Amino acid sequence: MEQDQLFERLWNGAASMEEWTQAVSEGAVTAISENIISVHTTYFCGGVTVIRTTAGLLLIDTAKPDTAGKTLAAVRRWDDSPIHTVIYTHGHIDHTSGIKVIDEEADARGIPRPRIIAHRNVARRLSRYQASHGFNSIVQGQQFNYSDYVYPVGQRRPDEIYDDTLSLTMGGERFELFHGRGETDDATFVWLPEHRILASGDFVIWVFPNAGNPRKVQRYAPDWAAALRQMQALRPEVLIPGHGPVIFGGERAAQVLDDGAAILESLTRQTLELMNRGRSLDEILHSVRAPAELLAKPYLLAKYDDPEFVVRGIWHLYAGWFDGNPAHLKPAPSAELAGEIAALAGGAATLAGRAKALAEAGKTRLAAHLIELASSASPTSAEIQTVRAKVYAQCTEAEPSLIGKAIYRVYQRDAEARSSA
Ligand SMILES: [Zn+2]
Repeated sequence: MEQDQLFERLWNGAASMEEWTQAVSEGAVTAISENIISVHTTYFCGGVTVIRTTAGLLLIDTAKPDTAGKTLAAVRRWDDSPIHTVIYTHGHIDHTSGIKVIDEEADARGIPRPRIIAHRNVARRLSRYQASHGFNSIVQGQQFNYSDYVYPVGQRRPDEIYDDTLSLTMGGERFELFHGRGETDDATFVWLPEHRILASGDFVIWVFPNAGNPRKVQRYAPDWAAALRQMQALRPEVLIPGHGPVIFGGERAAQVLDDGAAILESLTRQTLELMNRGRSLDEILHSVRAPAELLAKPYLLAKYDDPEFVVRGIWHLYAGWFDGNPAHLKPAPSAELAGEIAALAGGAATLAGRAKALAEAGKTRLAAHLIELASSASPTSAEIQTVRAKVYAQCTEAEPSLIGKAIYRVYQRDAEARSSA
């Protein structure tokens, strides 16, 4: 199968994923073989892969409520057979919550709903989403800047679960499911040995691995690397990523898997080396660096998550929450500390003035510390909030990752609202 021109431009770094999202927005079908397609609607929703068997269709993932309709319509233009089985590659909502649309179609046709297969931890994740529903709605709404966002819960749970590996034959097709931990603790990658096709789930996402999201539960950078090595050893000829276009050709697939593993292995090795020498989190965060040549690959750009956030995640995988700064063991309330420092500095306005100067000089990290102290010491000052809004606008601009930008913007908006209150 020939790669199209847009793919070549993505591969060479000449096109952006935004351009690809635009190109697939109506529901684009990639033909992988006579009986296998992938359907995409946007970068921001997991793709759906469909395998035609004599027993019916098998789907890998389901998209989400706002993309599942388009996805299913694209599938139906290709094949109208019943959907027999759905595999969730993990429990994230952009891979599972489209099941509702699939079930509704089955109900309308008066045929059985598909059986769902997933790793054991998917059900536990879905339960957690219900327990922390308010928090998840806030975090997800802030990350993608949706107001009044309600996190979708209530996805249908797996009918069949497995722990490490699962082999299954359906309608004459063989599927091998492997569990690994990476972005989540419930992940599956799917191997079709007769076709040498690998559906990686979110172990491959066409950006730097999302292994350190500041507001999500623990992620697993070293295990992620190990899973990519396991996939590389399978020597796939086609690599179907969780997000972004399908990668054809054994050499390219191996390169993507190898580079993704190498960048996570490097961050893990560097972080552990320093931890094992007793260094503090502060020292580690400011000295560990992702290898620049890997970070420059078009499929590893840190546009979504940030290597620094991943270092924190690795720390957290091997250590507790204490960061090695004794003042952080039992900290004073931040408003009390801010009051003391503001008094020493000659007032909160002095701190804010210095924050403004630092931000303008590009020292946005330091500026954020000082403006938070000023804001805590004098929370009702509209002038200080005006400066705070500017500081976070500069932090947002300086930040490469979507997640980092989104978090700064939350506080920029807060400051804007308080500056005019
Ligand atoms: Zn995803």
